[in-house]
Amino acid sequence: MTSAFANAKKQIDDITSILESEYQDKKKFQKAVKLLKKPDRVIFLSLSLKDDKGKIKKYKAFRSQHNNARGPYKGGIRFHPNVSEDEVKALSTWMSIKCAVAGIPFGGAKGGVVVDPGELSISELQRLSTLYAQKLASNIGPWKDIPAPDVNTGGREMGWMLDAYEKIVGFQAPATFTGKPVELGGSQGRTEATGLGGLYTLENYVRKKEIKKERIEIAIQGFGNVGYWFAKLASAAGYKVVAISDSSGGVYNPKGLDVDKLTKLKNEYGTFLNLPKSGYQSLITNHELLSHPVDILVPAALENTITKDNAKDIKAKTVLEMANGPTTPEAEDILLKKGIDILPDVLCNAGGVTVSYFEWVQNLSGYYWGVVEVNEKLKKIMDKSFSEIYEMKKKKDISFRQSAYTLAVKRIIDAMILRGGA
Ligand code: NAD
Repeated sequence: MTSAFANAKKQIDDITSILESEYQDKKKFQKAVKLLKKPDRVIFLSLSLKDDKGKIKKYKAFRSQHNNARGPYKGGIRFHPNVSEDEVKALSTWMSIKCAVAGIPFGGAKGGVVVDPGELSISELQRLSTLYAQKLASNIGPWKDIPAPDVNTGGREMGWMLDAYEKIVGFQAPATFTGKPVELGGSQGRTEATGLGGLYTLENYVRKKEIKKERIEIAIQGFGNVGYWFAKLASAAGYKVVAISDSSGGVYNPKGLDVDKLTKLKNEYGTFLNLPKSGYQSLITNHELLSHPVDILVPAALENTITKDNAKDIKAKTVLEMANGPTTPEAEDILLKKGIDILPDVLCNAGGVTVSYFEWVQNLSGYYWGVVEVNEKLKKIMDKSFSEIYEMKKKKDISFRQSAYTLAVKRIIDAMILRGGA
């Protein structure tokens, strides 16, 4: 099985020779790189949940706090059967890199519970979320570690966790969690922020490449928060989204898919696999979606999706990573040799954590912004990050990912050295 954490470490190793010449004290630099390749701490939890029938079930859970040299730890909480120590370590490393790419003052963290949330009732999910926040309470807080939603969690879970946390500390502390419902201090624009940030990146890339957007065909793997919003906003902006999938399979229409219509169908039938035959869309497998000859392929589901086994089949011209860690380093080598650009996750999906940062700022100041202001501020950060990465890529003749990592790792290591810790 591919280790996502090994991939994250390899991505750091891949740029150390590019960065080393910028540091006079090589020992300090090497020490900082070594520290960056392991999280500061991993918290292991066992959650005892009383199910609706009164039976106790145990769930393993984690929180990996990777690096806080640039600010408090920050990262989502995932509810999924494949959550593991390896996965949270990788995801927390990518969060440190992502926050540094975006230039926002956070480090990286990630948490998760090994659970299939589809098997729990809503009240069981609420008790599980509450347990997780209670057990983690002494390790989180607005200036310590700020969780947020990730796969299979959202505003509802953040509301439950915030309530559990505030009952323990005894005061209002909305800045402890981001991605909350607006009624509980969430930011306008947070729900769609990751998708919108991805669209801003796509627009920047298309502008540089001087391609007409009406001609651009897109395939998207994943139709959750990120995939849905990316699909909806890209279609509205004039791109042609021809294929979309969920974990059961995908739908395809060469004339372009209507995202709202698909949402209705998915709500009615549960999964794409269950959709009835119709003249509107044909059903395809996830492999067919990944290997379809489109302009832009958007993995927006889970990590390790594009591997050395399927990379040779990818026919897209560009991969725009909206999921975290969807392309393994071996697959990346194959794609780059084929001349495929890979716009990395740590840039493309940074919109989510950027608006989470805005939410935290608004909670701490008690002053709330409208959606136009949020989106303008998000655009500024996404545009700046893209242009810094693009310029560095050109100057050093490296890949987009190497460029993003070079910028980010330098920002983190500089902070570590200034603190005297490396
Ligand atoms: P989600 O739970 O809302 O949706 C996940 C989607 O992926 C679902 O449609 C699911 O059916 C699909 N999926 C799962 N396994 C699949 C498979 N094998 N093949 C095809 N589709 C599959 O999760 P999300 O919040 O949309 O997150 C998706 C990715 O984006 C994750 O990698 C997450 O870490 C990353 N991300 C999310 C945010 C955010 O703000 N939610 C921010 C940054 C990055």
